[in-house]
Amino acid sequence: MFHPVPAFFMIFRRYSFKPSTSRAKKKLVKKKLSHLVPLSTQDPTYIQLEKHFQDGWTHLSKPKPQVHAIFTIVLTEDSSAAFLRYRALVENSRTPRDANEQLLFHGTIRSCLLGDEKRGTQLCKIAGCLLCSVIRNSFDVSKCGKRHKFCRFGTGIYTTTSSSKADDYFIGVPESPFRAVLVNRVVVGNPLTQKSNAEEITELPFGYHSVVGVPGAGLNYGETVVYNNDAIRPAYLIVYAADIHPEIHVTRSRLVKQTMSRRTMLLKRRK
Ligand SMILES: [Zn+2]
Repeated sequence: MFHPVPAFFMIFRRYSFKPSTSRAKKKLVKKKLSHLVPLSTQDPTYIQLEKHFQDGWTHLSKPKPQVHAIFTIVLTEDSSAAFLRYRALVENSRTPRDANEQLLFHGTIRSCLLGDEKRGTQLCKIAGCLLCSVIRNSFDVSKCGKRHKFCRFGTGIYTTTSSSKADDYFIGVPESPFRAVLVNRVVVGNPLTQKSNAEEITELPFGYHSVVGVPGAGLNYGETVVYNNDAIRPAYLIVYAADIHPEIHVTRSRLVKQTMSRRTMLLKRRK
């Protein structure tokens, strides 16, 4: 079962790759920096994304969360051009011409407070903050297996139709009440359907563009895997408040910062 591109996708496309008009935005793109732009709660894209997120919350054991903020990820011109080139290749290889592009979720490590403040869009430079890294540079297939030793369908980039499954992979910081998942544009093309594990996959047979793992033996929720960096781009960030005990992830640099701030407090007290 494959999820077709939603009817509202054209709206997403318009917002994702809308050329920046303001001087500040032009400067960011010129400097080759991807960045976030908050969406108003009245924005049709916000409303549709919130529904996409809530509809995708499939874990009955986890209460549906409250969406706090949604941001559009504005990519650099080079990054969006590479994605669109790959998408056109896949589109032209299929009959009828259609890249089978889907909006899929991905959860990762956030070591900062990106998105907690609705206007807080500054990406951090903490080495372990994979969320800021993905927003800045998109995904990198060579990183597969570094966080999770087990890669069910081999060396690829993993996404899912289930927002609550993506949430399982989110790790935040203890001082934040919020969690976050990325919504990504994924060129699914012709998917190779897998019902059982296939850890040996590094590339696909001719004519296939992705692997779709269907729930069944050993897999509770669907997974979609692509093996080409240009088959995927982060498009939106959804920040939400969930009644889930947050896992604690404290990176080394954060530990250093915390230690330094404690030292500063102690010094102030001594004065
Ligand atoms: Zn960060």
